[in-house]
Amino acid sequence: MRILVLGAGFGGLELATKLSEELGDDLDLVLIDKGEGFVFGFSKLDVMFGKTVPEGVFHPYRHIDKPGVRFVQASILSIDPAAKTVETDAGTFAADVMVVALGADLDPSATPGLVAGGNELYTVAGAFALRDVLADFPGGDVIVAVTSTPFKCPPAPSETALLMHDHLTALGVRDASSIALVMPMAVPIPPSPEASKALLAAFAERGIAWHPDRLVRGLDPGRKVALLTDGSEMAYDLFLGVPVHHAPPVVAESGLTVDGWIPVDPLTLETAFTDVYAVGDVTSVGTPKAGVFAEGQASVVAEAILARIREGGATRAYDGHGTCYLEFGHAMVARVDVTFLSGAAPEGALEGPSDAIALDKQDFGATRVRRWFGRTWDGRAPSSA
Ligand SMILES: Cc1cc2nc3c(=O)[nH]c(=O)nc-3n(C[C@H](O)[C@H](O)[C@H](O)COP(=O)(O)OP(=O)(O)OC[C@H]3O[C@@H](n4cnc5c(N)ncnc54)[C@H](O)[C@@H]3O)c2cc1C
Repeated sequence: MRILVLGAGFGGLELATKLSEELGDDLDLVLIDKGEGFVFGFSKLDVMFGKTVPEGVFHPYRHIDKPGVRFVQASILSIDPAAKTVETDAGTFAADVMVVALGADLDPSATPGLVAGGNELYTVAGAFALRDVLADFPGGDVIVAVTSTPFKCPPAPSETALLMHDHLTALGVRDASSIALVMPMAVPIPPSPEASKALLAAFAERGIAWHPDRLVRGLDPGRKVALLTDGSEMAYDLFLGVPVHHAPPVVAESGLTVDGWIPVDPLTLETAFTDVYAVGDVTSVGTPKAGVFAEGQASVVAEAILARIREGGATRAYDGHGTCYLEFGHAMVARVDVTFLSGAAPEGALEGPSDAIALDKQDFGATRVRRWFGRTWDGRAPSSA
């Protein structure tokens, strides 16, 4: 049975790894991605704030060496979910089972003025470019803001504001600066009142201004002001925006999406097309767009595929569970454990922040780099064989 996995991000890498671990050379899986390598979302913040360099967080796909897995670097140009075929710039691929794990595309140009007058911190290129901007920042009014919903990793803007406080303090310009955080939600992490309370207390302690229930809809670079959805304006010297997200165009054009994202059965991750699954940020499954959820969904799909290949065996319904790490600044990390889709309102328990959880987060990255790429990684230096 030929399995085609579209996208080698959190979801695609986990799916290919789990199936290879179980089936070895009996697996026939093609993993396609247009990129040369993988970067964890959280590594973008590490590079931005000068804790490491781009080479230290880049995991080249050429290191993927797994029984039964063939990695193809190619851009997917069209997807036919009924025929389970894809056209790429490296040829056509056909599958018996197809898994779409193409993530969310980011579109900074969709926010007027953002490209000309601001910075975005969510793409690899944007975050890496911010490293130099932040290293030389002389101090001033800083805004960290979300420009549209949905957006990946809802805690990331809050983490950015806290890390910005440390960064400006280390540069000796915190007293000459202000930090404002503009978010569409009423509290920083709605499913976890405990985490929200701790974050709001941390913002207050550090003098970070919290602006809930609004977005930045554009910038006026000439006047250096951000234009908010509530009609107000906010002056800035440095603007860091979370850009507009949408499904990759190739997915939107395939007929798989409804209201912009791929609807799936929340328990099985099956799409409306037979033998076509979708996992991660490209779906509207009901969990936040974050790597841990993409990974959990990939694991459930892997078990379904295994049961089918083995003509039996355990399968699992997806439970919407995920553990998110939360940078609090001062080199401390907290952990939020949350379950969506259980029928009850999600409620996330908070642990920390602490030094010990910062080490757990490092281990979280190291474990995945070991499993996905067969390499050793300390979170900062390039991985080694
Ligand atoms: C600043 C920041 C911090 C974050 N921190 C965390 C965190 O601490 N924990 C966490 O769980 N999540 C975090 N995230 C979110 C996390 O990175 C994403 O939610 C996760 O990567 C989604 O996984 P995915 O498999 O759905 O998609 P992705 O990992 O985005 O993978 C999709 C892949 O598809 C490929 N692709 C897209 N279109 C095409 C095409 N046409 N042809 C070929 N290939 C294509 C892309 O190159 C990409 O490799 C963070 C994100 C950001 C921006």
